[in-house]
Amino acid sequence: TPQHSSHHIPKIMMMGLRRCGKSSICQVMFHNMPPLDTLYIESTSSPSTTVFSSFIDFAVVELPGQTNAVDPGNEELERLFTESGALIYVIDSQDEYINSLSNLHSIITRAVEVNPKINIEVFIHKVDGLSEDFRLDAQRDITQRVTDELLDDGLLNVPLSFHLTSIFDHSVYEAFSRVVQKQIPQLATLENLLNVVCQHSGIEKAFLFDIKSKIFVATDSSPMDVATYEICTDFIDITVDMDSLYTIDHSQTPALKAADTAFGNELDGTDPTFNKSKPIGSTTRLNNGLILYLQQMVKGLALVCLMRKESMPKIALVEYNIEFFRNALEQLRLLTV
Ligand code: GDP
Repeated sequence: TPQHSSHHIPKIMMMGLRRCGKSSICQVMFHNMPPLDTLYIESTSSPSTTVFSSFIDFAVVELPGQTNAVDPGNEELERLFTESGALIYVIDSQDEYINSLSNLHSIITRAVEVNPKINIEVFIHKVDGLSEDFRLDAQRDITQRVTDELLDDGLLNVPLSFHLTSIFDHSVYEAFSRVVQKQIPQLATLENLLNVVCQHSGIEKAFLFDIKSKIFVATDSSPMDVATYEICTDFIDITVDMDSLYTIDHSQTPALKAADTAFGNELDGTDPTFNKSKPIGSTTRLNNGLILYLQQMVKGLALVCLMRKESMPKIALVEYNIEFFRNALEQLRLLTV
């Protein structure tokens, strides 16, 4: 993604010692790299920026591990702190983490001095290598040490959160989603809208996903479990794969390309080869009787929900409600740009 386009959009910074997993997280989340391929990637050595464009646009800025936050006069870093809504600090939980904790401490102190509102998001990373008990111990220990040290410095109200993450399961997507959600000013409105849609449509759980990164931008307020989240993200993959089965590359066939431009979307329903720009959507029934339903909304976002089978006979009503939701989303988006 071109770096010059990232100047005026909100930023999320990513820091952490060398080899803690920063590049891997970015590659897996934003460039669809299979997690195992990250074994061979090069460690971050210069700042790199990934622009992410969804309900809101933001840039993820990854900084190399040797960046020293306490260097006075590191104006570039101070500018980044000011421009960023969140700072993700990655800690390798499979390694001794004492060094990263002192690094994190100096970074937090510097960051909140420049920008007291910056959310500090600590990713306790690579937890796939730890047992369930060990994960919770590590989280407790790290949380305790970080907050104690901040207290010693008299820093009481640092916006600080901790997440257990790994690129080998869905945890890193969930954590990243939570980080992004805090950056969306209309989050409460989105959640309310989803609650209303769920209540009136027999929907048990609904997510608004960014299709490409599988970050969920919002969900309704019913409790969420990881299994549901996983099923929904897998369903996005399946739907996208199925959708591309019957599309053809129009750029290869000038006549079709011309026809496509001439008729726009109007031919969508009549000829399967013209469905390229049609919003994706699909429905399936799970073994437990629940229905998985996916509809593309605005700009790369999809609504994915689990609904009770009693809703199927009333699917027209459900879709009517969802259409309302889509319109509301469009209006909310207009407010942001
Ligand atoms: P960076 O220097 O912070 O950018 O770190 P890299 O992204 O280069 O990652 C260093 C190593 O950690 C790579 O060999 C990755 O395969 C590995 N790694 C990254 N994330 C995970 C994870 O969630 N679990 C495990 N087990 N290894 C990981």
